[in-house]
Amino acid sequence: MSEQSTPILDRALGRLDLSDDARKMLQHAHKRIQMSVPIRRDDGTLEVFLAWRVQYNTVLGPAKGGVRFHPGVTLEEATELARWMTIKCALMDLPFGGGKGGIQVDPKSLSRQELERLSRSFVRELHNLMGPDTDIPAPDVNTNPRIMGWMADEYDQIARARTPAAITGKPLALGGSEGRVAATGQAALYVLQEWAKRSDKKPKDITVAVQGFGNAGAHFAMLAHKAGFKIVAVSDSGGAIYAKEGLDPEPIHTEKEKGKGLDKVYSDTSVRDGKDHQELETNKLLALDVDVLALAALQDAVTVDNVGDIQAGVILEIANGPVSPDADDTLYGRGVTVLPDVLVNAGGVTVSYYEWIQGRTGDRWSAEEVHDRLKARFDRIAPQCFDRAEKDGSSMRDAAYAIAVERISAAIESRGDSCYFKG
Ligand code: NAD
Repeated sequence: MSEQSTPILDRALGRLDLSDDARKMLQHAHKRIQMSVPIRRDDGTLEVFLAWRVQYNTVLGPAKGGVRFHPGVTLEEATELARWMTIKCALMDLPFGGGKGGIQVDPKSLSRQELERLSRSFVRELHNLMGPDTDIPAPDVNTNPRIMGWMADEYDQIARARTPAAITGKPLALGGSEGRVAATGQAALYVLQEWAKRSDKKPKDITVAVQGFGNAGAHFAMLAHKAGFKIVAVSDSGGAIYAKEGLDPEPIHTEKEKGKGLDKVYSDTSVRDGKDHQELETNKLLALDVDVLALAALQDAVTVDNVGDIQAGVILEIANGPVSPDADDTLYGRGVTVLPDVLVNAGGVTVSYYEWIQGRTGDRWSAEEVHDRLKARFDRIAPQCFDRAEKDGSSMRDAAYAIAVERISAAIESRGDSCYFKG
């Protein structure tokens, strides 16, 4: 991955009738910030972690995107994820650009106190370059409301002000929004329901396997089960389980939550620890003969190496980038419908937007109000993507990119000045 755009974005830039200005601006990240984040370990030694924040594009509004704690975080990965956020926010018609950041760390190797010091240290390094009108972080892989609470507190301490719109995904007590935790899974379900409606299929006849039973995947699985879909398998990094007749994800989630304990930030337990279901080799879940494969773990779960094993007719991309570009082309060629990440997992950033509005206005919305707004937005945007794919004869991903890029391009053009030089 490079700082330049990727094949999918290039395809959109090449295909659409855009100005040169828009094409050039979208091919480059606006800001890529590298930080050395020091913390004092519990044994008194100092350790320095590498971290990045990428603000890919800010034409539509402040950069918006998560912060990831993972040993595999790199500048290239953060750039790619920030680019996807740019597309996602534009697609969802939100007044945000795209950003992403992360710390190269195995957070599970830190004590809870060290994790708090690391989260605060990250904010100290980034403070001048973030804020409600500049760049608004949120949770991502291995970060959660608790960590956002520490970050928000650090931001406020330095600013000597209460600024609830500086960070989203905060705990409710600190100005978080109702509905944020389940938002990504909830909206992924809306997209799947739209596909089912257009395919004239009933949820009870649709089998689903879910890779990644974390925040996004578990909520999706629970809500999809309640909506009548048949969840036959779920997995996490500890293993996978399978039940031909379908399983109820709720008790599995409850068990996993118990594994967090009072003083822990991460769960110690796996879906495999529930003894009621047949165990499955983790990677075999991807090859199950199901109607829908929901990918909710990490990038590149499906690549050219295993794309031949995929039997599902539909892939629901709840994670960011779970299907590599080459595998995506192969699946499209085989007639597999890939419902793309930039639409499917956009529920999280949409409710983050609602949290940002509440933070700025001091208003508090009920869970019902958040839910109604989320549904209304997906009822508007998801059909636009399906219709555009049909009209262009393209994949859903190309359709989503086309809508997003046209929105950003219109904003770049509206900012003006190129017309003065056109004679
Ligand atoms: P999370 O850390 O809560 O969950 C990730 C899950 O994936 C964990 O259960 C982990 O055990 C599992 N996992 C990791 N490797 C696996 C493997 N090889 N096989 C099976 N399971 C594996 O993270 P999350 O917040 O749920 O995010 C998951 C994905 O969704 C990420 O790509 C993230 O960027 C994306 N996403 C999340 C949100 C959100 O609101 N949580 C919003 C948008 C996008």
